[in-house]
Amino acid sequence: MDKQDYYETLGVPRDANKDQIKKAFRKLAQQYHPDVNKSDDAEMRFKEINEAYQVLSDDERRAVYDRYGHAGLQGSGAGAGYGADMSGFGDFGSIFEELFGGFSGRSASGSSRRQPRRGADLRADIRLSFEEAVFGAEREMDIPRMEACEHCHGTGAEPPTAPVVCATCNGTGEVKRRQQSPLFGTIVTASPCPTCNGAGEVIPSPCTKCRGRKFIRITRKLNVKIPAGVDDGTRIRLAGEGEAGQNGGPPGNLYVVVAVAPHKFFVRNGSDILLELPINVAQAALGATIKIPTLEGATETIEVPPGTQTGAQFRKRGQGVPHLQRNGRGDMLITTRVDVPTKLTSEQKELFRQLAKSFGDDTPREETKGFFDRLFGSD
Ligand SMILES: [Zn+2]
Ligand SMILES: [Zn+2]
Repeated sequence: MDKQDYYETLGVPRDANKDQIKKAFRKLAQQYHPDVNKSDDAEMRFKEINEAYQVLSDDERRAVYDRYGHAGLQGSGAGAGYGADMSGFGDFGSIFEELFGGFSGRSASGSSRRQPRRGADLRADIRLSFEEAVFGAEREMDIPRMEACEHCHGTGAEPPTAPVVCATCNGTGEVKRRQQSPLFGTIVTASPCPTCNGAGEVIPSPCTKCRGRKFIRITRKLNVKIPAGVDDGTRIRLAGEGEAGQNGGPPGNLYVVVAVAPHKFFVRNGSDILLELPINVAQAALGATIKIPTLEGATETIEVPPGTQTGAQFRKRGQGVPHLQRNGRGDMLITTRVDVPTKLTSEQKELFRQLAKSFGDDTPREETKGFFDRLFGSD
């Protein structure tokens, strides 16, 4: 029998690249896979497609085929070893998984659907006021998640029925197929059972609530306790509050991610809080006792000494944010900003004029003299 040209078999040009070849093979293989295609010549075509792909996807064998055609692969050398020794091709099952991943339901590692699998983690965002983040809060949150169906207890079968072991695969979830290939001899491939889709069981009467899917999306109201001291971006882990696990696997976790609104006066820096304190020139020069707000919403006083400059820092110990993981609180750091008045009454203007005269308006002070000299280039 005349063998068809491998390129024609796959319907690709002779200069097709690996991607084109793989794509063409994938498409044809899915079309002619005997599990899918029940026509008489499907299996034959599938074998041809497979054979063509095995050669054209291998650089060395493709080169031999390009030069010598089918004969080059059948004689000694290039073709001889392939029939008996399959080791070079790795796990054939995995090739099939790669190609039929779409409906195999199996992961690349080969673990079947029936193994326990941990549920997925979930994320929920929460927006807190500055004070809630500092002192903690309790919030009720709506969390949509997949849970085992309560009606069928996660079996997928309408009570009182139950799932039954799949007769096609005897519960293993996969079917083994032996194929004769001119190139490789006998090939045993494992593919997901087409009857149960790899689940190993079938559900004769599906649950009326989840329609046999075993899981159902439910929005749960969860009471979330936010500990004192959380900050923007803090993740709070609620163990086991994520999606339900599969086949008896544990549920995932829920991570609540915190976003904190800004405060009117305070800026957060870890467990310290920063406060910019505006003072007037008189307070700066003479010193003063000034009222400041606290995190609790009360007021405190701070002593600003005479001669306080813009940028002077004062610390109130233990007036900051509670530490998240240990006892105690951070500090409040107060930074002064001397406000130069922009609007003056005539009385204040007069006072400033007197002040200026008293300072000696034209004469630079001793300590700034050098600076002025440089600036105006005297000497
Ligand atoms: Zn159900
Ligand atoms: Zn089955």
